[in-house]
Amino acid sequence: MIPAAFDYVKADTLDHAVQLLAEHGEDAKVIAGGHSLLPMMKLRLAFPTVLIDIRRAADASYVRVEGEEVAIGALTRHADLVASDVLAAEAPLLAEVAAHVGDPQVRHRGTIGGSVAHSDPAADLPSAVLASDATLVLQGPGGRREVKAADFFLGYFETVLSPDELLVELRVPRTGTGGWGYEKFVRRANDWAIVGVATVAGRVALANMGNKPLRAARTEEALASGASIADAAALAAEDTSPVEDMHANADYRRHLARVLTRRALEAAAARP
Ligand SMILES: Cc1cc2nc3c(=O)[nH]c(=O)nc-3n(C[C@H](O)[C@H](O)[C@H](O)COP(=O)(O)OP(=O)(O)OC[C@H]3O[C@@H](n4cnc5c(N)ncnc54)[C@H](O)[C@@H]3O)c2cc1C
Repeated sequence: MIPAAFDYVKADTLDHAVQLLAEHGEDAKVIAGGHSLLPMMKLRLAFPTVLIDIRRAADASYVRVEGEEVAIGALTRHADLVASDVLAAEAPLLAEVAAHVGDPQVRHRGTIGGSVAHSDPAADLPSAVLASDATLVLQGPGGRREVKAADFFLGYFETVLSPDELLVELRVPRTGTGGWGYEKFVRRANDWAIVGVATVAGRVALANMGNKPLRAARTEEALASGASIADAAALAAEDTSPVEDMHANADYRRHLARVLTRRALEAAAARP
């Protein structure tokens, strides 16, 4: 439970963090809230030689309207998403999903950028970001590039981020207050999702139904061609590959995906 030795440096800005990443090379890692990285280090599943602390990088925590989108700084903490008036009015799915992450301590430390960059398929926010059709802004030594959420997640703890890049901002379309739902099935309050389902604007994304957050494409197609919620939800587990673990076998997860999708779509329909 004691991590391997590491050096520690503090970044004052995101530009500074990118510069430090380039300086320290592939064995360096940024630390944001530390609520996923530190457990990994204590279990010796991660052993960076240098930790670059970006927690206090100026101008990296915000939620604001920019044109037809809401821009969210990567260092915005889960608790700040929950409390955001902008999200409540323009993209409430993300605020609701953030409220389901862990407990108050986790929500006051963990950041949306950390959660999305960590790419744990059981996490709450990655599926919401996918359902929101977010654009992710990455910054490396060569400047910034934009990647759609659908192209960002590659697999367990793997994304298109290269070791010298930071996730700096997430942008989601403004949806207004209607048409969204989130359902998370847990054994105990504050647990990780056994299965989660996020929906907004007719898109549906699943947590913990494969090695990365997945769009329920068959359900979305059925909805678009006029199927009932019940019929569309019955297709939610198609093309998924859920894991088996001590909490649920694959069949049970498929069952949950169908039931939770129906509930999430019903909630979305009740919020016109
Ligand atoms: C007790 C407990 C319960 C939890 N319960 C839940 C839960 O129910 N649902 C859930 O979804 N999550 C849960 N979490 C995880 C929590 O949401 C984490 O805060 C989150 O997954 C990681 O965010 P972080 O800011 O702490 O990232 P960190 O731990 O600091 O970093 C995680 C990884 O992302 C990288 N990283 C961080 N920020 C960036 C960036 N801007 N650009 C590029 N790479 C970056 C780091 O190098 C590291 O590899 C829980 C954690 C704990 C400890």
